[in-house]
Amino acid sequence: MVVELISVGTELLLGDIVNTNARYLARQLAKLGLACYYQTVVGDNPDRIKAALDVAFSRSDMVILTGGLGPTKDDLTKEMIMDYFHKEVILDEQALSMMEKRLMARGFGPLSDSQKKQAYVPKDAIIMYNHNGTAPGCIVEDNGKYCLLFPGPPKEMEPMFEEYALPYLKQFSDRVFVSINIKMISKEDAPVTIVGEGPCAERLGDLVDNANPTVATYAKTDGCLIRVTAAAENRDKALWLLNPMVDKCKSVLGEKYIKEIYEE
Ligand code: ATP
Repeated sequence: MVVELISVGTELLLGDIVNTNARYLARQLAKLGLACYYQTVVGDNPDRIKAALDVAFSRSDMVILTGGLGPTKDDLTKEMIMDYFHKEVILDEQALSMMEKRLMARGFGPLSDSQKKQAYVPKDAIIMYNHNGTAPGCIVEDNGKYCLLFPGPPKEMEPMFEEYALPYLKQFSDRVFVSINIKMISKEDAPVTIVGEGPCAERLGDLVDNANPTVATYAKTDGCLIRVTAAAENRDKALWLLNPMVDKCKSVLGEKYIKEIYEE
């Protein structure tokens, strides 16, 4: 299963907001052991959303979209998906009633047509109800292609992902990824010739070519980070693979230059 992310929103393209949804989702997919090779950001424009979907589905089995599920005219994502998969549109009574209750409790009168628009969903979709906002998300399956739609606000998207998408996605994952990070002390605390990324990579030597666990070095402003990552059918097996490799890394890097070791 190859998954791809599309973040919809002109605000993202303009740099007005940071794409924290993509970061959150990418990390969730990594933890689930699902491959994600591409992320796209696209504005609220139907032709460009359609083009992004075409490209995404040409190389991935599943596309996760965030943004554009709200009540306004430029919230087009769901309409695009219904059109894309030729799905009939139906009113989801539960979503409507949740929305009514929520908005009434906040002093709004009867729902406007644009608010009601949010309760229309693709027929046969799995609905992800929104306990923290109005627009529900949904999961659409069509001939081996999967599409997950989430509202843009992170405080709505993240709990919805955890409640609905996480258990759903587990069926596609037969492994977990576990990482152990080795954080080196900063350059201020030791000679750069010892703790910089280059010297660390040199000390690690062939270990960085290992397939499972992998060993990767990252230059961070506060010191080099070495991430050792194993893929296995469960966490215990992953740790069983990881621990000897972490010991080897510690030994070649030099314990006194290591600031901290933590799991992620
Ligand atoms: P709404 O009902 O609030 O309109 P929506 O699903 O239509 O939700 P957008 O209109 O695209 O979503 O975005 C609403 C807000 O959600 C943005 O102003 C921004 O604060 C946040 N948001 C959207 N996309 C992202 C993202 N990729 N990363 C972080 N925040 C985001």
